[in-house]
Amino acid sequence: MWKTDILAFGAHPDDIECAAAGIIINTVKLGGIVVLVDLTKGEMGSHGTVNQRTREAKDAANILGIQRRVQLNFEDSKITNNLNSRKLVIQIIRQYKPRIVLANAFIDRHPDHREAAQLVSDACFLSGLKKNRSIFKGREQQCWRPICVYHYIQDYFVKPDFVVDISKHFEEKMKTIKAYKSQFVNARDNSPDGILALLKQIEATNRIFGRSINVMHAEGFTSARYIGVRDITLIV
Ligand SMILES: [Zn+2]
Repeated sequence: MWKTDILAFGAHPDDIECAAAGIIINTVKLGGIVVLVDLTKGEMGSHGTVNQRTREAKDAANILGIQRRVQLNFEDSKITNNLNSRKLVIQIIRQYKPRIVLANAFIDRHPDHREAAQLVSDACFLSGLKKNRSIFKGREQQCWRPICVYHYIQDYFVKPDFVVDISKHFEEKMKTIKAYKSQFVNARDNSPDGILALLKQIEATNRIFGRSINVMHAEGFTSARYIGVRDITLIV
């Protein structure tokens, strides 16, 4: 039996909020358990210090309504999908036994996003291998493979495999993003590549995905495997 409904991984603090805060708020409001994992602390970011960003990540988690946010010590801008990285991610997957795992996009601007996408995807598979043993806090862990891994769409526009209506909680989603004051509020930069443009881009992407299913806002995801539904009439 799973312990966590959604285990969401992000290369940097704020990745998850930018691309998937809506479905996380939806899930939490329905009583689901969500755990966030930031692989790095975002120390290479152009704005804000590590301490500031860690505080902001806590504020964002409070707005999301989640209890648990884990920050790992991968090096920002140096994430690599190697044996040791997979070992660390497998430990987390086995600890939280999620039903669904969320990860960065395979195709995205930041190299860490692309690397983290493959790292988390591979770790989800390897975590399910019984003979792939792992010890965490002195105890042998049980193998665990989540039912599905979905990749959220963040910076580059990627055609989603499915979209989820987040209209009800879109404003709250934007609040979680703005909790990263050093990134989205104080670091004012109105250039086409700047901060305000980024917030507008998030809204525009959510509007486009929403339009595709005739709702106001939606988030889009890709999946390496087919998406199945038990009841075709539930598709909107
Ligand atoms: Zn990022």
